[in-house]
Amino acid sequence: MSWSQRIDNALSARREQGLWRARQVRHPGTERMFSDGQQQWLNFASNDYLGMSQHPAVIRAWQAGAARYGVGSGGSGHVTGYTRAHAELETSLAGWLGYPRALLFISGFAANHAVISALMQQGDRLLADKLSHASLLEAAIQSPAVLRRFAHNDAGSLGRLLAGGHTAEQLVVTEGVFSMDGDQAPLPELARLAGQSGAWLMVDDAHGIGVQGEGGRGSCWQAGIQPDVLVVTFGKAFGASGAAVLCSEAVADYLVQFARHLIYSTSLPPAQAEALSAALAVIRHADEAREALQRHIGHFRAGAAGLPWALCESSTAIQPLIIGDNARALHLAQCLREQGIWVTAIRPPTVPPGTARLRFTLTAAHQPEDIDRLLEVLYALARE
Ligand SMILES: *Cc1c(COP(=O)(O)O)cnc(C)c1O
Repeated sequence: MSWSQRIDNALSARREQGLWRARQVRHPGTERMFSDGQQQWLNFASNDYLGMSQHPAVIRAWQAGAARYGVGSGGSGHVTGYTRAHAELETSLAGWLGYPRALLFISGFAANHAVISALMQQGDRLLADKLSHASLLEAAIQSPAVLRRFAHNDAGSLGRLLAGGHTAEQLVVTEGVFSMDGDQAPLPELARLAGQSGAWLMVDDAHGIGVQGEGGRGSCWQAGIQPDVLVVTFGKAFGASGAAVLCSEAVADYLVQFARHLIYSTSLPPAQAEALSAALAVIRHADEAREALQRHIGHFRAGAAGLPWALCESSTAIQPLIIGDNARALHLAQCLREQGIWVTAIRPPTVPPGTARLRFTLTAAHQPEDIDRLLEVLYALARE
């Protein structure tokens, strides 16, 4: 088979399975609404839960940072790319979350990949929740360690994998809030089981940080646990991009030596680090925004209970409706777009086969009437 045949075959298979992915050009606007000059859409697809991407203090900090440092970091952190802006952000993140150290990465994908590839060796065991994010599984699959997946949010299933007196090093991996379902991991039980077996626990809290727990400190703070490795990302509630790994002094030193993503990749622009510090300062005191978000979640769930599609067991800003069939989910997303509602249909392999869904996300920037409008359109579609 030639290159072009291979690519053509893969593309036609995608189309036939109803799994074709296309990107839509999104127009500028607010976190709540955007417009192309003719049509406007209410945005129910963004992870910018607290509206931080548009916060004036964050924008100002980014602009001032660019004026001071220029727009790029000029190299990896091991060369010229580790500035005071980076160091100060690391120090405040570590202090905020109660860890000795924080290390910045350019994305959550890179942070997850880096931690797993730097830590895991031949003979080790990696025990990951079945629904773990692609970035965790990508690294796990490439790693020489043995990968075992436990049933989603099922501490009993993890317990069975841990039983058996394994002498290998074991790393348990889960998410604080699951990105495609919005449900939360049973963190106290997972932490207890890992601890009993001498395994380490790694939690990816991409969707929990800034939103869950007191002062937005995330899912682990809320659950009263401190995992050995905590990954937080800045593309969701922080409104920008990037990530940090929170860990001990020794693990941080180890990652600085061995994480290739830190050594061979240009670090975040310093201006972005300044913007992230400004976002952190806002998030710490954003209780009003977090409360508004909670009200929107309650409003949507109460309103959607009579729809013919199942809601996920989620009390977070991620509120998917399970449609099942790929083509049907795609069609509904298209109808919603035509009615001025921006949402994405999520299909396999991002989610398990037969569970294609409309993944609505709510943000503090929504207004109650936005949610009423969403519900009105959904009920109208359900009657069709
Ligand atoms: C978004 C996400 C990531 C990836 O983070 P990026 O910073 O966008 O690369 C990792 N894990 C989870 C659970 C996510 O939702």
